[in-house]
Parts: sequence; structure tokens; C-alpha cells
Amino acid sequence: MKNVEIARIFNEIAEFLEILNENPFRIRAYKKAAKSIESLSSSVDELSEEDIIKIPGIGKDLLGKIKEYLSTGKVALHEELKEKIPYGVITLMDIPGIGPKTAKFLYETLNIKSIQDLEKALDEGKLKGLPGFGAKTEENIRKGIASFKRGIERKPLFKVLPIANEILSLMKQNKYILKIEIAGSLRRWKDTVKDIDIICAASENEKVIEYFIKLPHIKEVVAKGETKVSAILKESIQIDLRVVEEKSFGAALAYFTGSKEHNIRVRELAKQRGLKINEYGVFRESDEKFIGGSSEEEVYQVVGLPWIPPELREDRGEIEAALKNALPKIISLEDIKGDLHIHSNYSDGFNSIEEIVAAALKRNYKYIAITEHSKGLGVAKGLTEDRIFEQKKEIERLRKRYPQIVILQGIEVNILQDGSLDLKDDTLKELDLVIASVHSAFKQEEKEMTKRVIKAIMNPYVHIIGHPTGRLIGEREPYKIDIDEVIKAASDYGKFLEINSYPLRMDLNDINAKKAKEKGVKLVVNTDAHSITQLDYIVYGVSVAKRAWLETHNILNTFEVEELMKLIRKI
Ligand SMILES: [Zn+2]
Ligand SMILES: [Zn+2]
Repeated sequence: MKNVEIARIFNEIAEFLEILNENPFRIRAYKKAAKSIESLSSSVDELSEEDIIKIPGIGKDLLGKIKEYLSTGKVALHEELKEKIPYGVITLMDIPGIGPKTAKFLYETLNIKSIQDLEKALDEGKLKGLPGFGAKTEENIRKGIASFKRGIERKPLFKVLPIANEILSLMKQNKYILKIEIAGSLRRWKDTVKDIDIICAASENEKVIEYFIKLPHIKEVVAKGETKVSAILKESIQIDLRVVEEKSFGAALAYFTGSKEHNIRVRELAKQRGLKINEYGVFRESDEKFIGGSSEEEVYQVVGLPWIPPELREDRGEIEAALKNALPKIISLEDIKGDLHIHSNYSDGFNSIEEIVAAALKRNYKYIAITEHSKGLGVAKGLTEDRIFEQKKEIERLRKRYPQIVILQGIEVNILQDGSLDLKDDTLKELDLVIASVHSAFKQEEKEMTKRVIKAIMNPYVHIIGHPTGRLIGEREPYKIDIDEVIKAASDYGKFLEINSYPLRMDLNDINAKKAKEKGVKLVVNTDAHSITQLDYIVYGVSVAKRAWLETHNILNTFEVEELMKLIRKI
């Protein structure tokens, strides 16, 4: 998997070009390409040239750069730019509020080449009196640095998971490794994570540790012992590798997967049985005899529990359920039978409907819904009534050509400030599936926002409320809304709430989705894909569903076509 490296290089090229005040189109091209490559599910080195050129944002020039990286491990342009401008100058742009102009200015006037340099300059009062640097600007920079540091503490899952998987697959190539797994909150699929934890058992510890610290992702080794290495990755993420004995592998994996609260409960159960559990194994308390620990199943079994999926290990009732042998049969990716929130190039999506159909067939989906934005409020290329009619004709043509999949014509209609929708009921009733979403006026008071969304729920033609809280992880807080009231309304009116899998959203989150389940509301796990590569985002929504204890009957798009059509009242 070379994707993460290539995406990082393209992003850095864009940032260098920004500082050099280069052509904005060129800068945007690199950023767009980086984003596309990040979201690919297969490694670029496994793709043919024709496939690479089909990736959104990759033209001939960037294809050349990708080939260059695959054959040399470098991109010459990137190397040239690093010669021109110190690398640290682009890291200044990671601070909210510092753009390319400011970064360049700070470098040229005060020789500031890193965030530490900048903090020092602030403390020494060197920014005072510089043109455009009033007290207010200084304060904003300080705030920016603080928020940057907080951001380093927890990162969105989707930024970290692909990197961790890349490292895991490289580690698996080392012949001295017997067993290896990702642990920590990453294994529990928490929506933000602090660091990467990897546990492995090896035949020769030293060989594995030497191999690990030479991986291309590692920027700096912080601490290195015989069984543990801590390092910082180029993406500023901390990574810890622990090498344990094979007989302790399961115990260590459970210990470092957590959560802490879950582990405390398991240890209590052990204590009641005269046992002690730690990262080395399960021991008899009386004489320290080793009882087990090579697998997680062994650890749970000795305390009288079935194995508990990592997504449930939060001490939210899973121990009680496991003791009664009543753990939920949480869904898996294979249970998803279709995607009911996809944008095509009729609105702001990248691919044609036919390309989406082909991609859905590849995933063995039984149905999809094409759900463009509606016309209003500056949402990109929203559909007017006329365009909806045109699209209907195209979908009818495709239905004849692809009878093996059901293609629903849907819409993602805007919920306006007062809770009305920006398409008429007469139009909505012609469509197969209506998602209603808030895309504007996020700053309303809680009461108003709650009323607004509930009014949309009450519209007889609305089926689903899309991304119900509007949060963007690390970028935008959820809007103020009484989610319990929304859940109640969804239950009263028999409507569905979305778990939007778009990795920045993961909305509803696990806690709210679990609440919805408990109130008998069905959810729907959608990707909100704007290109066919983004159909892969479904794993993020499925992870939320797992963490919310959802079973197949709780999720609309796990049903067969006929039941689906009944549930959306189309037959
Ligand atoms: Zn939306
Ligand atoms: Zn959407």
C-alpha cells in the first residue's frame, strides 16, 4: 500500500506551491489527487495505468508522478521544492489561521522554520510591530497553536486507519513475526484515536524491532527497548509497537485494545474466581500459576465470558449481556445489501449513474438510490424539477439495461430554515426515496433546529433524515439539536435515521444510534458517496452500527429488495 505516501507527497507539493504563490489550478489539482488517492481501497501499485487514470483528479501529468514514485520511491518535483523551502515552513500551515502568505512572511522576515520557532518568536515578542501583526493576530496565532496541539492529541479514525493498515501489511512481510494485530481504540473503531498500538509475537524480537524502525513511515524513534518501541510517524502520529511472547499474545492484545473501563470489569470477574489478568496472561492468584493468554478467547473463557467483539468493549452493558449469553449479533459488512445515499454527476458527484451502477454490481449490491442535492441554497449543482425529470428518463433506461439491480431515484432535499423542504410535495411524491438533510443555517437555537428537523420528519414523503447532527469530526461541532426528541419523532412517524458513513461525518454517532435502536427506530447505513471510490466508506458507517449494537433487523439496507420496498411504502 503506497497510497498514504503518495497522498502525503502530493499534499506537500500543493503546500509548497501555495507558498511559492503558484497557479491555483495546479495547487488544487494536487490536493484533489491526494484526496482521491487517500480514499482508494486498493493500492495504486496494484492498479493498471488505465485504472489509475480513471481516479478522479488524476490526469496524464499526475499519472507520470505516480509512476515516478512507484519506480524510484521519490518525486523529483517534491525533492526540488524541499530544496527551495525548508520543510518546516509548510508545517506552519497546519496551524489554523496561518495560510501560505503568513508562513512565507514569517520564514522570510524572522527565519521561522517550525512551530517551535514560532512559539519562541511569540514568547520573545518578535512578532510585535511587524506589518499586519497586531495584538489580536498574535492571540489568534496562539489559539491556533493550542488547537493544533489538541488536534495532534486525537485524530479522526479515517486519517489514521489507512496508515496503520499499511504499516501492518508491511510488518506482516517480516518472517520473524508470528502473530500481529492492531490494538487500541483503532481496533475498537472509535471515531477519533490518539495513537496507533501494534502488538506482535515474534521469533526474534530484535530483528522485528530493527525492521520496524526502518519503515519509511517512521520520522523519529522516541524510545526503544527490547520489547517496546515508541515512534512518531511522518503524519505526526505516535505509534507504539510491543513485542510479546506468543503465550501472552491474546492477553496483551486484550489489555491494549481496552477500553480501560471494559478491562476493569473483566479483571473484577477474574478476581471473583481467584484469578488475576494482566498484559502477560491469566494467573492463579494463590500461586501465580499461568492459566492462559495466548488468545483473547482464552482470556474471556477463563472468566466465564464468550469472546466480545472489540467494537463493544466500552462498558456500555456488554459485560452484563455477555454473562447472560445475550450479546447482540452485530452486523457485518456483508449484511449491507445496498447504498441509499449516492450523488452522481447530475449534481456534485464525480461519476455517471451508469458507472455507479457498475461499481454497485461489483459490490454485489441488490439496490442503490441516486440521491442528488435539491436546487436551493447554493448546494452544488442542485437539481431543479426539470433535471429530476431528465434523470428519471436516464434511470429508466439503465433499469432495462441492468435488471439485476434495483435503481431507485431518490433526492437529498434541503430542510430549509423553517423546516419546509425546497422541493414541492408533488415532486417528492414522484421519487422513490427522499432523504431530508440540513445544509444551511447551522447556528439556530436548539429549540428551533429540533422543530425544523421534526417538521421534515412529519412530511409524508420524507423517508430518511440524512446526517442528523451535522457534525464534521475535528472541523465542525454538531449543531444544537435535541436528538432524543428527533428519535421520538422518527419513532412516532415511522421514519429512518441515517448513519452517514462519510468518514468526516460518522453521523449519527454510536451513542445516538444505540439510543435510536432502543426506541425501535430503524437506521440506514449510507455512504453519501460523491465518487465510486467513496462507496468504500461504507466500512466506517458499519463500524458505527457495530459500536451501536445494531443487528440486521435494525438497519433498512440489510433487507432484501421486496422488504425494502415495503418499508419505504413503495409496494
Ligand atoms: Zn448532505
Ligand atoms: Zn449527500
